[in-house]
Amino acid sequence: MSDTDENSPPAGAASGGLAARAMAARGAPYLDDLNPAQRDAVERLDGPVLMLAGAGTGKTKALMARVAHIVTTRRAESDEILAVTFTNKAAREMKDRLSRTPFDLRSPIKWMGTFHALSAKILRRHAELAGLKSNFTILDTDDQLRLLKQLLRAENIDDKRWPARQLAHLIDGWKNRALTPEKVPAADAAAFNNRGTEFYAAYQERLRTLNAVDFGDLLLHVVTIFQAHPDVLAQYQRWFRYILVDEYQDTNVAQYLWLRLLAQGHSNICCVGDDDQSIYGWRGAEVGNILRFEKDFPGAHVVRLEQNYRSTPHILAAASGVIAANEKRLGKTLWTEAEGGEKLRLIGHWDGEEEARWIGEEIEAMSRGTRGMSPMSLDDMAILVRASHQMRAFEDRFLTIGLPYRVIGGPRFYERLEIRDAMAYFRLVVSPEDDLAFERIVNTPKRGLGDVAQQKIQAEARAHGVSLVEGAALALEAGAIGGKGGKALHVLLEGLARWGALNREGRLNHVELAEQILDESGYTEMWKADKTPEAPGRLENLKELVKALEEFENLGGFLEHVALIMDNETEQGGAKVSIMTLHAAKGLEFPAVFLPGWEDGLFPSQRAMDETGLKAVEEERRLAYVGITRAEEVCTISFAANRRVFGQWQSALPSRFIDELPEAHVEVLTPPGLYGGGFGAAAAMRGSDLEDRAAQANVYNSPGWRRMQARAGERGLSQPRESRSPVIDLEAVARFAQGDRVFHQKFGYGHVTGVEGDKLEIAFEKAGVKKVVARFVTAPDDVPF
Ligand code: ATP
Ligand code: MG
Repeated sequence: MSDTDENSPPAGAASGGLAARAMAARGAPYLDDLNPAQRDAVERLDGPVLMLAGAGTGKTKALMARVAHIVTTRRAESDEILAVTFTNKAAREMKDRLSRTPFDLRSPIKWMGTFHALSAKILRRHAELAGLKSNFTILDTDDQLRLLKQLLRAENIDDKRWPARQLAHLIDGWKNRALTPEKVPAADAAAFNNRGTEFYAAYQERLRTLNAVDFGDLLLHVVTIFQAHPDVLAQYQRWFRYILVDEYQDTNVAQYLWLRLLAQGHSNICCVGDDDQSIYGWRGAEVGNILRFEKDFPGAHVVRLEQNYRSTPHILAAASGVIAANEKRLGKTLWTEAEGGEKLRLIGHWDGEEEARWIGEEIEAMSRGTRGMSPMSLDDMAILVRASHQMRAFEDRFLTIGLPYRVIGGPRFYERLEIRDAMAYFRLVVSPEDDLAFERIVNTPKRGLGDVAQQKIQAEARAHGVSLVEGAALALEAGAIGGKGGKALHVLLEGLARWGALNREGRLNHVELAEQILDESGYTEMWKADKTPEAPGRLENLKELVKALEEFENLGGFLEHVALIMDNETEQGGAKVSIMTLHAAKGLEFPAVFLPGWEDGLFPSQRAMDETGLKAVEEERRLAYVGITRAEEVCTISFAANRRVFGQWQSALPSRFIDELPEAHVEVLTPPGLYGGGFGAAAAMRGSDLEDRAAQANVYNSPGWRRMQARAGERGLSQPRESRSPVIDLEAVARFAQGDRVFHQKFGYGHVTGVEGDKLEIAFEKAGVKKVVARFVTAPDDVPF
């Protein structure tokens, strides 16, 4: 929309005429490969249209064909089309699809993007109506928190009892519901010790003074402006001749209002979505929005698509079987013309590491071509996890075997905020000279050591040419830092000295030491006190970090490992396996999909179940549906009988969703006798005693299990582990003896210093001592021993 919008009537309107349009559309190649229902949705340009259909039925495809049709028939110019969706990933998917739709776009669709991005664009044009200047800053979550903390501090609010994060969460919730401070309902008045709305108002005021907005404001301000200034709204209503919305099931109240207000102009709104894929309830999305569409937009034409083009019949049937267990849904049938294909595969593992190892091998096998399938590119394979902490096992495994991967929609495990913080503590314990680590943690958690105190520490350190830790001790001695901050610094330095000694003397096992560091420093406590939705995930990541430590001899070895693998990352180019959360995978598709960690408590997640009971289980089930329906050809679900948490084995029950998979469409890869055969195991195990199960699961490592596996192999039973069963691993180990010089694909040359199970302990020349799986080790024939 240019600044002279009002004066420049859109060309599209004038060039109408049925015949002209028909001419323009004739031979439109973008219509050729659509089915009649999709065509209907594309060609019905007047009035509201709802495309309500299951996964992979071509909703996004049809929506983009609709853009092509609007442009080709000259119903509107490119910039009079508003195409919007929920996440950045989904917006990129829309743009990608549009670029692949065969038509002459003439000029780019300027108003295509996420609700946030488009709102920012609108708000810049009318900032003054929200008390802002058009060059306002958009704050990220960190800035937002800092601001709230300042506000609370000024009011002498105890940050421990009333954490700023909790307030931020509350305010976000209100903004998602399009509530300005004046509109917050009386029922919410008690929030945040009866002062929630007061702080909300103060926060908004402060943002205005700073000429800043947070994410929630982008939508809230626009909706508020539209409501208070009908003239402005009318201008946009006139302008946007066509509105298209993808992933409509995930819109929250503010987004819904935003859309409704805009659509009241031409009423040409086309929303597409799938109630079965609504997975953002925890962020304020209202699946009711889609179910209510026909009421909100009277005369709406509803198109149902039933043919699925993405997945094989088995995958489709499995997904439909799972989602059928949800009570609150519209219900739809999906069918496909595709024939054949593999059944959905289900496999149980002894533990999470074994699961990661198996998937790594399976991916390698598929990239070479296996089971009669042609080789598959790594780009075509994805691992979709429920919780981000699950990624660590895969990342470590893939780095070890040199399998290229990318993590989508979030930092890699070792780049996460909480992991970097924790690692900074470990680094400082191992090496007190690590000034960067000190700077990172000196005031995390809050110790009352703000900028002024930190400058004094820096000054002391510089004056004496010593590290910051020593500088801090000197500053304390000199009495430069007193009060609460001084005391806290003293405690921190004492802690560092104590942990350092424990580490050097090896009196305490390094895993316990790590836990102790995180506990005694107050770091774990900081996240426990945190009431934001991310906090539990961060705590789980910290547990996962401690778990990762078990594979190493000491803290130093672990830190080195991380430094090494982080370094390796830059080397990788070309095709990569994708690792992402189920949430991030919405709207995407991959020929092969792995869905690990299907265990009750992990998926469905315990947290979700504790919080909202059955409702949450239904949302988790929709997530399972989203996961399975991402797969085009191969879909593999797995679960582990044990997960290690804080060095303790915890038995896990297979997910209840596994029981809901229709048996006829599932092939169980787990050999019979193990986990009750894997399938139907969830129900069977739920009744049985945990100790029995542990004993049963232990079979996995016993000679009996290996024999059983070998027999299964003879019978031609599907053997994904193939040449890589534990039997072979032991043979690989047997090839080497202590003192042998060896070569490892990732870590280079070294000498074998010990053997443990199927792993060799090797002192590498460059990478230090490591335990590695024997089959990745070769004897360097060309190098004399
Ligand atoms: P989701 O609910 O997962 O977002 P969707 O309904 O948006 O799925 P699309 O991603 O648009 O579905 O389509 C799924 C796959 O099917 C795509 O690869 C698309 O190209 C293909 N497809 C859709 N419609 C047709 C058709 N009529 N003929 C051939 N292929 C089609
Ligand atoms: Mg889609």
